Amino acid sequence: MFDALYLDKPESGFTATRRRIGDDELVAATPDADVTVRVEYSTINYKDALAITNRSPVVRRWPMVPGIDGAGVVEASSHPGYAAGDRVILNGWGVGETHWGCLAQRARLKGDWLIPMPPALDARRAMSIGTAGYTAMLCVMMLERQGVEPGHGEILVTGAAGGVGSVAIALLARLGFRVVASTGRASEADYLRALGAADVIDRTTLSEPGKPLQKERWAGVVDAVGSHTLANACAQTKYRGTVAACGLAQGMDFPATVAPFILRGVRLIGVDSVMCPLDDRREAWRRLASELDAEQLERITTVVGLDDALRLAPEMLAGKVRGRIAVDVNR
Ligand code: NDP
Repeated sequence: MFDALYLDKPESGFTATRRRIGDDELVAATPDADVTVRVEYSTINYKDALAITNRSPVVRRWPMVPGIDGAGVVEASSHPGYAAGDRVILNGWGVGETHWGCLAQRARLKGDWLIPMPPALDARRAMSIGTAGYTAMLCVMMLERQGVEPGHGEILVTGAAGGVGSVAIALLARLGFRVVASTGRASEADYLRALGAADVIDRTTLSEPGKPLQKERWAGVVDAVGSHTLANACAQTKYRGTVAACGLAQGMDFPATVAPFILRGVRLIGVDSVMCPLDDRREAWRRLASELDAEQLERITTVVGLDDALRLAPEMLAGKVRGRIAVDVNR
């Protein structure tokens, strides 16, 4: 038996609870898995918060154990790439959406989905990074692949005090970029500057409808917010600059014109972490292990227990959670 968060949607209505689950129940729910992992840490991402609160149709199979991220030790494996005792990381692939997830002390996963834990990380640090941090690194990689360099000008990070934003600021500042953080929380300005932001701007300057072309300011953008914020970010991006779009905290809409793309050659690059190929995942995790300062990661992270994940999910959707939440599943 092991502890897990458990989401169900019987006719009487949606429930999210912590409960004991039997190993046979886990095996029956995950017939195509080939690796059993003793999860040590998981985390709450925006998507986990949506699942735990049933606020959008993230969960597509009931009942569901949530948790799109996990880190721990392999207990048993019939996959050729993994053996008992190996330390691994899992991000995405529909886990916590269509396949039982990692907000649990045990998970049965596919070996093809796993990343070996980089030697410089442990389960707690890996889950302090989580999908949000790994997505931030994918965004940085996309800017670099389009040729964005520190000498080209400022980088805008939106949703700055959230998980993706916080890690993106720390990574970009360490790489020598001048980072401008856009936040709705003026009270977090000191936190954002401590992560490396050179300047902090009020997110209302970006979140309202704006002109199709505005004064050119950004060499690159990491956008976790979408909607008018993304449209304005594109309209303010310099000639041939790059915008990496990964989130929808303001909205899924994109009320923009093609003007920045056809008149300024602005590049809009979509970033997906869930089905991202293994090569990019490995590169992202290798770089996170070596380029994300351990002290900065501590500054970003709060560690909580499984019960707290239930309590914190609505707060996260209300934009009240700062940085990253790692979940110690044995608490
Ligand atoms: P968080 O909740 O940690 O951060 C989101 C931040 O967005 C908030 O902290 C807040 O920052 C800002 N925000 C919230 N509501 C609004 C609003 N109405 N208008 C403008 N800004 C707002 O989430 P994550 O950082 O984990 O994820 C951010 C986004 O990225 C989510 O939409 C998530 O779904 C997406 N995502 C996508 C991935 C992918 O594969 N493409 C992977 C991971 C995440 P502040 O208080 O500083 O303004």
